[in-house]
Amino acid sequence: YPQDGHDVTALMKYADVAMFQAKKDGGNKYQFYLADMTVAANQRLALETDIRHALENDGFSVHYQPQVCLENGRIVGMEALVRWQHPQHGSLPPTMFIPVAEETGLIEPLGEWVMRTACKQAKKWHDTLGINITVSVNVSGHQINDRLVPAVRAVLADTGLDPRYLELEITESCIMDHTSGSINHLNRLRSLGVQLAIDDFGTGYSTMSYLKRLPVDKLKIDRSFVMDVPQDSNDMEIIKAILALAHALKMTVIAEGVETTEQCAFLAEHGCDVMQGYLFSRPCPAEEVELLLTADNRTSIAREALINSSLRGTK
Ligand code: C2E
Ligand code: MG
Ligand code: MG
Repeated sequence: YPQDGHDVTALMKYADVAMFQAKKDGGNKYQFYLADMTVAANQRLALETDIRHALENDGFSVHYQPQVCLENGRIVGMEALVRWQHPQHGSLPPTMFIPVAEETGLIEPLGEWVMRTACKQAKKWHDTLGINITVSVNVSGHQINDRLVPAVRAVLADTGLDPRYLELEITESCIMDHTSGSINHLNRLRSLGVQLAIDDFGTGYSTMSYLKRLPVDKLKIDRSFVMDVPQDSNDMEIIKAILALAHALKMTVIAEGVETTEQCAFLAEHGCDVMQGYLFSRPCPAEEVELLLTADNRTSIAREALINSSLRGTK
């Protein structure tokens, strides 16, 4: 008072906004109110309303990005990525609206919708094309609670997808957050028969002893390491170390964000199992990605990429 407000109602409201910001920053700090915060809070509120509306009115869609096995050049899985064509702002990237969905709890219905859509699609591919590929769904740390296992079980029962063809991707930073009792939840998920993958591996703070106790089948090497191959020798050493570690722990390794034939060649040479990235395909609507799944295309895109990266000698 007096610069921020002239009455108790306004001052309390702004104090609350400042407190919210302090909590968001991790707590254990003080925070004065700034006018920008109201703008940000209003934007968040508007986005929250729009997410709710989109959930009720079929406003979201799912795109799929192929995951290619290096052994035989075939598509073995598809990562499901949520897309949102906002009525006013156009196409919004998930990194813009997922955090709001997380803060507001809307990530639970949104995450479940993506999972249901992806499982239904995978089941359809299995039944109509006779190709048993896995579908990977991103799970936010905010979804890891007692409601997740029943939700996954219900989706599997409703769609009829065999659980081993559903993979849940959980980020490394979220798995390493011991406070959420995550191991317990992961074990329960695993007992449903689904696969678990650690997403964005290398960006969190895994301890080796913790990693070996995790009921996890796959590691996804974060794009930030793949990006600078072959220029950055440190990144290349890190990738080799991750591959050795994961294989010693009997985990499969997927490299994310593979864009060039050089990156593909390097990863193949060092025994990476599966790759995903623009080199093979961008994330696309189901109808488009389906073309890649049909017998000819399925092998040709991958084979072409592998041949281009002069892998014939190494594989
Ligand atoms: P992520 O799970 O690590 O997904 C990979 C991201 O990298 C995707 O971005 C994908 O489009 C992008 N990508 C794939 N290959 C390449 C490449 O070769 N080059 C480059 N530059 N990028 C590539 P997208 O779709 O924007 O998603 C960003 C993040 O948002 C995801 O990272 C994931 O953490 C989150 N996300 C997306 N969909 C969902 C969802 O349904 N639920 C949750 N909880 N999170 C989601
Ligand atoms: Mg992912
Ligand atoms: Mg990732």
